[in-house]
Amino acid sequence: MRGIFGLLFTTLALGHVVPYGLDADNTPALLERQVQPVRLTSVKVAPIRTSEYPFASGECDNGQVVKLQAAIIEARELLSTAGDLLKNKGSQFTDTYEEWFGPDKTPCFTCSKVSESIRKHNFEAPHRDLGLPFERIGQTLSPNQLDPRALTFTCWPIGEDHCQARFIAGTINPGLHPGSGLDFAGTLIGLCPRFFDSPDLQTVIQQFQGSNQHQTENSAGLTLVHEMQHVLATTGTKRNCTDVIVGNAVAYDTERCRGLSNEDKIKNAQNMAFFALDVRANQGRG
Ligand SMILES: [Zn+2]
Repeated sequence: MRGIFGLLFTTLALGHVVPYGLDADNTPALLERQVQPVRLTSVKVAPIRTSEYPFASGECDNGQVVKLQAAIIEARELLSTAGDLLKNKGSQFTDTYEEWFGPDKTPCFTCSKVSESIRKHNFEAPHRDLGLPFERIGQTLSPNQLDPRALTFTCWPIGEDHCQARFIAGTINPGLHPGSGLDFAGTLIGLCPRFFDSPDLQTVIQQFQGSNQHQTENSAGLTLVHEMQHVLATTGTKRNCTDVIVGNAVAYDTERCRGLSNEDKIKNAQNMAFFALDVRANQGRG
């Protein structure tokens, strides 16, 4: 619990340099005022347009919606494969688990609770929520019109500020974002054009298994596995992950993710993604 609060302070302290309460790939996380999460009942894709820079959003075109749906299927497969592995007795003592979540040194009567919690909240819950009924909304919504019970995706245009900064995607939890003054009624995941140009999973697995593993990119499905770790309504507050900062960089690559303290490993979103990728890439490995 101390680690969780430590991260909260870390991310809050960075709020001044990361405006708008946006947690996105390639930027440190910022936790903003959070409303009580509700259980999600649907997945939506909708244009979000406001006069407030930088949340202006373009509408996803047909091709982007098709790619998003394929990414959701891929993410669900990755999540279920990882979740299934964690059902195995003693799975918290496997090499894969220890590599991404750290060795479990707690007494055995409690140690399984950590891996069980990760299985339920970081793999099974995202798998469940991404499988909810999918609906495409034509109406342009403002942040305060977001459905509190929906996970809403939107397609940010290339000129959007965060996309200009080479973000892939970003998650905004419900609540007031002090930087922008906007009140988000529901959960929003913004997708930058880079998301739709992501390498496919087979390419990413080859990168992961190659000699330059630290340059492994995210497939679109793997990006969704990562972003879902930030969705409060899905993970719940105790297992909600952030993007842990190492020095002045965020732990996104394999080296930094492996180098985190054991406490941070189980709080870093990309460690969840790499665990899922590792399980998928090395099926059969103990
Ligand atoms: Zn992140």
